[in-house]
Amino acid sequence: MLHSKRGQMELPTTADIVVIGGGVMGASAAYHLAKCGIKNIVLLEKEEFFGTGATGRCAGGVRYQFSTEINVKLSLESLPMLECFKEDIGQDVNYRQCGYLLVATNERDANAFKRNVELQNSLGVQTELLSGDEVRARLPLMKFDDAIAGTFNKKDGIVDPNSVVAGYISVAQKMGVRALTHADVTGIRVSGDQVEAVETTQGVVQTRMILNAAGPWAGQIGQMAGVQIPVIPIRRQMFTTDALNEIPEDFPFVIDFGQSLYFHHEGEGLLIGMSNQNEKPGFDQSVDEEFEFVNLEAAIERMPLLERASRASHWAGLYEVTPDAHPIFGGSNIKGFTICTGFSGHGFMHGPIAGKLMTEYILDGKFSTMDVSMLDLARFDEGRLIKEYNVV
Ligand SMILES: Cc1cc2nc3c(=O)[nH]c(=O)nc-3n(C[C@H](O)[C@H](O)[C@H](O)COP(=O)(O)OP(=O)(O)OC[C@H]3O[C@@H](n4cnc5c(N)ncnc54)[C@H](O)[C@@H]3O)c2cc1C
Repeated sequence: MLHSKRGQMELPTTADIVVIGGGVMGASAAYHLAKCGIKNIVLLEKEEFFGTGATGRCAGGVRYQFSTEINVKLSLESLPMLECFKEDIGQDVNYRQCGYLLVATNERDANAFKRNVELQNSLGVQTELLSGDEVRARLPLMKFDDAIAGTFNKKDGIVDPNSVVAGYISVAQKMGVRALTHADVTGIRVSGDQVEAVETTQGVVQTRMILNAAGPWAGQIGQMAGVQIPVIPIRRQMFTTDALNEIPEDFPFVIDFGQSLYFHHEGEGLLIGMSNQNEKPGFDQSVDEEFEFVNLEAAIERMPLLERASRASHWAGLYEVTPDAHPIFGGSNIKGFTICTGFSGHGFMHGPIAGKLMTEYILDGKFSTMDVSMLDLARFDEGRLIKEYNVV
């Protein structure tokens, strides 16, 4: 294998497939493609390390609780892959099944929760519907006087995103995948309607197959190939506290749904986040301190003991958002230009199955494990949108 003076592998001049983006989607796809016997795979990541985009900045939440059948089914395939990650990939990903407890404080959300639980139960997902009193009984450290309903699934939980990316990349590399960092894709050459090559800051690689797994940047990569992908980057941020001994070991991932405010155990303390509904699209990943204050106030209101807590760390990342909050799987108007992006705030948990499905699509032209063909790029032009309610 060729290595540059820096010790980094040199960019090959040809590839059977180039995967753009070293987050969970690119890593999972590279692993699954290699596992299926594809030999000449190149994975390109612009940053110094893999998994430092949305994946490395995410909350690590994994859940079965969605409002659409397709998202519940994606979880039904993907979460067991995370449960077996150690056996299959050899990497511990610290899957903690603490459960997600979603709390409704208005009738609209309470009605949606009821429908969601019916849907989930019909698909074999054992989510429980809770009354307001049951929510309060389960969360004695929190103030939820206004809770009118809740939902709880004990198999939902938290997984370490960096371990998932590292696990996939390391096994993929052992199977021959050439995975490069500091490789910023700057252009895509198309001849007629067929992909021909990828231009990068390290040179050009000839290829007839590309997987765009660039997450919040997937729209930019699409533009390089002349493909319009309706994915917009929206900043989301969170902070962690120092140790809080009062929080019990089995504290669930709590979501105050009406405020998009969430809490989960992180180390000895809590991780707390809130979605700014007024956030404008953009690539800024700095923390908005003013909004952090809004988040902190709302969190203290719900959990008064936080008044005594100190912030341990904080960061921001980008959601890759589509108009219907569902991902895009499949091809495009340019032959050889495939897409796996747009998970709209809950893609980490679906990364394992997404990489497998894209491998099936690239190799066979169809999705075999489960049918996600309705989540194609064409649905936006053809008005086949499927709205997800459980977006945080
Ligand atoms: C604050 C926050 C909290 C979240 N919480 C959760 C959660 O609890 N559970 C959950 O399931 N999901 C969560 N998500 C969503 C989840 O993080 C994403 O859906 C998922 O990580 C997307 O993975 P990806 O591989 O598509 O994107 P990324 O991880 O962003 O990977 C794309 C990669 O492409 C690289 N790239 C971009 N442009 C180029 C280029 N030109 N050349 C080369 N490389 C390029 C980037 O550097 C990046 O590493 C959260 C997201 C955020 C921001």
